[in-house]
Amino acid sequence: MLENKNQERTSIENLGEFELINHLTKGFELNHKSTVKGIGDDAAILDHEGQKTIVSTDLLVEGVHFDLSYMPLKHLGYKSVIVNLSDIYAMNSIATQITVSIAVSNRFPLEALEEFYAGVATACKVYGIDLIGGDTTSSNKGMLISVTALGVSNTENIVYRSNAKPNDLLVVSGDLGGAYLGLQVLEREKEVFKVNPNNQPDLDPYSYIVERQLKPEARKDIVELLEKLEVRPTAMIDISDGLSSEILHLCKESTVGCNLFEDKIPLDPTVISSAEEFQMDSTMIALSGGEDYELLFTIGQDDFTKIKGNPNLTIIGHMTDHSEGIHLVTRANEKIPITARGWNSFNGD
Ligand code: ADP
Ligand code: MG
Repeated sequence: MLENKNQERTSIENLGEFELINHLTKGFELNHKSTVKGIGDDAAILDHEGQKTIVSTDLLVEGVHFDLSYMPLKHLGYKSVIVNLSDIYAMNSIATQITVSIAVSNRFPLEALEEFYAGVATACKVYGIDLIGGDTTSSNKGMLISVTALGVSNTENIVYRSNAKPNDLLVVSGDLGGAYLGLQVLEREKEVFKVNPNNQPDLDPYSYIVERQLKPEARKDIVELLEKLEVRPTAMIDISDGLSSEILHLCKESTVGCNLFEDKIPLDPTVISSAEEFQMDSTMIALSGGEDYELLFTIGQDDFTKIKGNPNLTIIGHMTDHSEGIHLVTRANEKIPITARGWNSFNGD
């Protein structure tokens, strides 16, 4: 995991806003030809040379989307970028630029913001992204982060949520439920720590799921893999809220039904063992837990042989006629209607 070694505290109040922005962003390089002008003027300028520009934005609020008591700022910077890139990849597009806007309390030391930007920088490096702007302001209600991601694609490559057809196969990348269970582990350790601050948690057995929560990745590799395999999904979405709500989105936008097979849902062994420990049902967690940032997509039956056996991809179901409805087919071969139980930041649980 990324670690915070910086213990100094330099007040940002005495640094001018310009100095602060300059300090935080000076190390960032611009690598895309499409970035004509980055940070430093009233606006950035991009030239995607006739290709379509893809734009997505997210707002993250302290206490709603993240908890600074167990979220290291470097991870937070990284994750804030990742969640946005994931939306660009979900359009089957390549992410190219981001803007990052932050609102923080004046009591935040400069070193904390440096940590945050170190995470942003790592994400930019790993995913090949130019930081081209943002905004910096103060907040008296906790930290706010807004990232906007931009990407490019040729018109014919863009994949919407709306084109799935009956008999298409439903495919997911990676495995599900880890990020949600990682959060449960972190919440539990936070309570233990509150009772006894000398209690050092042993997170080793949970490292996979804790990392899924604190340092998720976006599936750029899947977009590249699909291109290599010459598979063009008919519809695609990223899994930010949980499998069930994403399936409902695909079905609604495409006017189709779906059969999802419980025994096909990919789960890491750590997810299975931790679900047991928390006395939760692992299928329920995969369906309703959020923040896995895997890609969920549909492909025509013709493309089956191209993806068959690929360790990164699992066929978990198939689309049906709209009139057949949207169902989970359980291990006991029962058909249960899928309802929206995705992560909802308004319901407080
Ligand atoms: P303005 O007053 O026009 O909003 P700013 O002083 O906020 O201008 O921004 C100056 C430049 O610095 C702009 O290019 C802006 O995009 C960039 N910028 C401001 N804050 C950030 C930030 N947190 N991260 C990256 N770039 C930033
Ligand atoms: Mg500004």
